[in-house]
This record gives sequence, C-alpha cells and structure tokens, in this order.
Amino acid sequence: MTTGNINVSVENIFPLIKKFLYSDHEIFLRELISNATDATLKLKHLTNIGEAAGVEYGDPVIEVKIDKEGKKLHILDQGVGMTADEVQKYINEVAFSGAEEFLEKYKDSAKDSGIIGHFGLGFYSAFMVADKVEIITKSFKDEPAAHWSCDGSPQYSLEESDRKERGTEIILHINGDSEEFLEDARIEELLVKYNKFMPIPIKFGTREESKTTGEVEDAKEEKITVDNIINNPEPAWTKQPADLSDEDYKNFYRELYPMQFEEPLFHIHLNVDYPFNLTGILYFPKLTNDINIQKDKIQLFQNQVFVTDNVEGIVPEFLTMLRGVIDSPDIPLNVSRSYLQADGNVKKISNYITRKVADKLKSLFNENREDFEQKWNDIKVVIEYGMLSEEKFFEKAEKFALYPTVDNTYYTFEELQEKIKDQHTDKDNKLVILYASDKDAQHSYISEAKDRGYEVLLMDSPIVSHLMQKLETSKENISFARVDSDSLDNLIKKDEEQISKLNDEEKETLKTLLEGVIPSEKFTVQLEALDSNTAPFVITQPEFMRRMKEMSATGGGGMFGMSNMPEMYNLVVNTNHELVGKMLASKTQAKKERLINQSLDLARLSQGLLKGEELTKFVKRSYDLIK
Ligand code: ADP
Ligand code: MG
Repeated sequence: MTTGNINVSVENIFPLIKKFLYSDHEIFLRELISNATDATLKLKHLTNIGEAAGVEYGDPVIEVKIDKEGKKLHILDQGVGMTADEVQKYINEVAFSGAEEFLEKYKDSAKDSGIIGHFGLGFYSAFMVADKVEIITKSFKDEPAAHWSCDGSPQYSLEESDRKERGTEIILHINGDSEEFLEDARIEELLVKYNKFMPIPIKFGTREESKTTGEVEDAKEEKITVDNIINNPEPAWTKQPADLSDEDYKNFYRELYPMQFEEPLFHIHLNVDYPFNLTGILYFPKLTNDINIQKDKIQLFQNQVFVTDNVEGIVPEFLTMLRGVIDSPDIPLNVSRSYLQADGNVKKISNYITRKVADKLKSLFNENREDFEQKWNDIKVVIEYGMLSEEKFFEKAEKFALYPTVDNTYYTFEELQEKIKDQHTDKDNKLVILYASDKDAQHSYISEAKDRGYEVLLMDSPIVSHLMQKLETSKENISFARVDSDSLDNLIKKDEEQISKLNDEEKETLKTLLEGVIPSEKFTVQLEALDSNTAPFVITQPEFMRRMKEMSATGGGGMFGMSNMPEMYNLVVNTNHELVGKMLASKTQAKKERLINQSLDLARLSQGLLKGEELTKFVKRSYDLIK
C-alpha cells in the first residue's frame, strides 16, 4: 500500500469546495455519473477500433446503490476502469488540478451563484457530500485492481484490490449534513433531473412490472421484477429527423414534460455541426396572452447531460417561451450570464436558432396556409415579440406574419397593403390602417367603418401597440388608427370637403350650448360636418395618447408615467345630423338639455362608458321619453 499527499498548493482545498459550492451540492451525482458514462463510452470506442483486445463490451449499465445502514452511496460502472498508475495520474494529479483550477478561477466570483456547479469540478465534487471517498477500480487492461481512499484531507492511500470485474466503483461515505442523499426518493429525483437522457442505461434498484403470460384464453397477469432504468439513452433529438415521425416528436414532448397535457403545435429539429455543434428539438406550445406563466422551459444539455433550464442568453429572449431541448458541447457553462452574452459562439448559436425558427414558420406558412392561419392566435405573441426584439426576425417575419381582420381574413402586410391601398389612402398619400382591439366593445365603430367600405384589423395581443409603433417607423407612409380614435372622415381624410348644413353663427351657438351641458373635464367637444347618416354624437379617444398609455403599461415604450394619466375623450358632434339641428331649434332650454344628455349617454353606451348612477339615470330618462 502506498500513501501520499495530494499535490496541493491551495492548502486544504476540501473545506473550500464545500464552502464555494454550498448551494449546489446535488451536482456531485451528475459529475460521478458523467464520469461513469465517459468511462463506458471510452471502452465502447476502444472495442470499436480494436484497441481493447479480448474485451467484451456487452450491455453495460451504470448502477447507483444506497446503503442506508452503512451511510454509503455506491456508483458502479463497467467502463474502462483505471490501473493504479492511472489513479495516481488522473485522480491524484489531473483531477485535483482541475478542481484546484476551478476554485482558483471562481473564488472571487463565487457570490455569482450562476456559475457555481456547472461542470469542471468533476470527481472532487464528491467531497461536498462525503467525509470519505473510495475508488475501487479494475482496468480493462490486464493489471490488478486498485483501491484508493481519501478522507478529505490532502492525504490519500492507494493499495491493490482483489476486484476481478472490469470497471469502477465509487463509494461515498455520506457526511452528517448530507443524509438526504441516502434517501431513495431524493436520489431518484436527481437521477431524473440530470441523467434522464444520458447515453448509458442507469439502474437504480428494481421495480414491479405486470406482464401477461400464457395463451390468449388463459392469459395471466403476472408481476415480475425488472431493473429500474432511469433514463432513455436514445432521446429523439439525437436521432435524424428522417427517422422520426410526428408521433415520435409528440411522444418525446410528453417524455420531457410529463405534466403537460396540451399537445405542442409544431416542432423544429435543430441539427448543425459547423461552425458549432448543436442538436435539439424546439416545440411551439399553445400560448395564452399571459406571457408570464411558464414553468416548463427549454432544457439545456451538454452531451445528453442536463445542465440547466435557464437558457437566457443562449436562446433569444422571445423564444424562451418555447419548450424543448438544446444540446451543445460548445456552450461555455462555467461562466456568468453577462459573459455568455459577449461570447461569439453563443451569439452565433442564438442567431442560428432565430433563423431556424423563422425558416420553419415560413415553410409552415407556405406549405399549409390554412393550418398556419388557424394556429396564428396561439403563436402570434411569440412572433410579434420576436419582430419587436430581433431585427433579423422582423425582416424574415415579413413573409409570414399575419394581420387578421375582424372577419377572420388573414393578410400578410403586403397583401393587406395591396387590398386596402385605394380605399385607405388619404389625401396626403398616407395609408391609414384601421384596427380594433375588441370586437364587442368597439362594435358600433367597426360596423360604421365596414359600412363605408373600410377593412378593420383585429389587433388584440398585449404588445401590439409596440408592434404598430415599430411598423409605422420602419415602413413608409403608413399609420395605424383604432376605429374609435376619431371620426372616420378625420382618420382618413379625403379631398372632398363636406358641406356643412350649419353656418358659422349657428356653429358658434351650438358650441356654446353643448359646452354648457357637457362636462368639459370629461369631453372635448369637436364639431364636424360629417355624412348625415353618421351618428350625431360619437365619443373618440385620440390614438396617440391612448397608445402611449398602453405602451407605458406594457413596459419598454411610451413615456414614463403615462399609464397613470386620466383617460381623454373627444365628443365628435356631427353638425349635419338631423338631431343636432333639432337641438339648436328646440323651444326650451330643458328640451335642449334633454336631447343633449340623451345623445351623450347613447354615445357613451356605444363606447362602453356608461356605468353606475349615470346608467340608472339614462334608463329612467329613456322610459320617460317613450311613455
Ligand atoms: P473530467 O471528467 O473532466 O476529466 P473528473 O475530475 O471528473 O474530470 O475526472 C478526472 C479523471 O478521472 C477522468 O478524466 C478519468 O480519467 C478519471 N475517472 C474518473 N472517474 C472515472 C471512472 N468512473 N472510470 C474511469 N476513469 C475515471
Ligand atoms: Mg468528470
């Protein structure tokens, strides 16, 4: 037996390991299973290339066993194993220097918990949870097995062992603070979290399975005991798209998110090996308007080892609403988020993902437009958000972003422009796009616009005011106007001058009369000579102010504090309407006021603004009028 000192320059590194990695102790298991997997895959490779003469690769499994009484956790593999020399080299020297380097690099930034525990510490992370660690290992080479043991001080012992089977057993003597890792449920939870898709089968105990035996007539249900294999060693993303059916993709979605009952809308298979390596499958889930609710996230893997479900910085922000997996050995994992954003490779990955998603959307649009239109409502939030946040995506989305009308006709922007250019272009050659945000609430305005031959879009996603702002600035001579933001004649000004039935003097009298009755703190009276069929009173809310308020409320735009401003309304009075003439001509002031109040309430009613006491008064007055 030999004993020795592990080469330490940082005195007593184990307490440091324990301290620095306090928050993330659980990653030790992922590290040890990764090592066991590496050792098994190395053996596979060596047998494949004929460098392991006489070795039977077989069907190796990795096994995790809990010895509750002995307070030990065992991790066993049937991989390449190590000779005593290799233990000396890889464990005492190399692995240690790896751990040392890791701590050296991160001891100042240890407070940034984002960097902690993301690979690199390797084998020595075992000391986070164990007082003592043993390795019993037999190389595939014809050499005696070795037994290494270390109690967390820089001293270790290394002696021969009589182990005969090829492979490695790691024994952790779990420390008093870490007894949770002797619980079956806890270990199973960790194995599922980190190793669910690792490439070598991982066995953890056994489980009961029912099996039908015998012929059809006298078939029997029988309970049999089988190995409890934690992982699926060949997850869908490691396969070729050509080898997968739609059903396979859906099954994999269920495998990833067992608690999701809604099916994904469609998937995107990522597969690239130059200039970086990346595979994965992204799914578009059905999204609601609430962009905050999201618990099932995209999972990041490195060679089938789970790393994190925080893909911020790697996946463009608007796509973090998607689900699925990304696997790449080229994403640096030991670094802080701010570093990630500056990393060239990561930027390329993010751009690649954006491009793939845009291409997929475009091909779905081209291949089956009807289906795409049906899905539009469920995916528009992601697309609109992407158009706002990624210039490249905005450009690509030109080809598939849809603008539905209130009657469910879906146009691309180009189609829309073509369709409405004659009717909607005003005298200054500006294309005015009318929209509604709520079909019911703005019904009277919509139907008025439709009666006059205008198209009205339905723009009802939460960030749509930002998107319109963006479209207005990136395209020439267009503007969006909500149907209730002014009278149609003002929204789309044509050359023809409307002739007013009232002369200037009458207009003055009318204005004074109205302002005496209508509360000026609520409405600004605006006299207009409109079509005599247009309603006498219409309440409008100027586009600019309302949109700024909306943008300020959804963040990132508008003006600071705008969302607290009181609502502003105009009262458009159609001086050409018969009823308005009647207001002027009525004999008594009381009759005039009754006409004005009744008309104002009707206008409020169409805008959904008549409530409470005012509504009660209106109803009463209406009965009086008809009795
Ligand atoms: P890394 O895995 O990044 O190389 P580790 O500290 O996890 O660093 O492991 C150090 C080395 O110890 C490995 O590179 C490998 O040579 C050896 N090793 C660790 N675990 C095993 C194992 N189960 N079987 C064979 N070799 C192992
Ligand atoms: Mg390792």
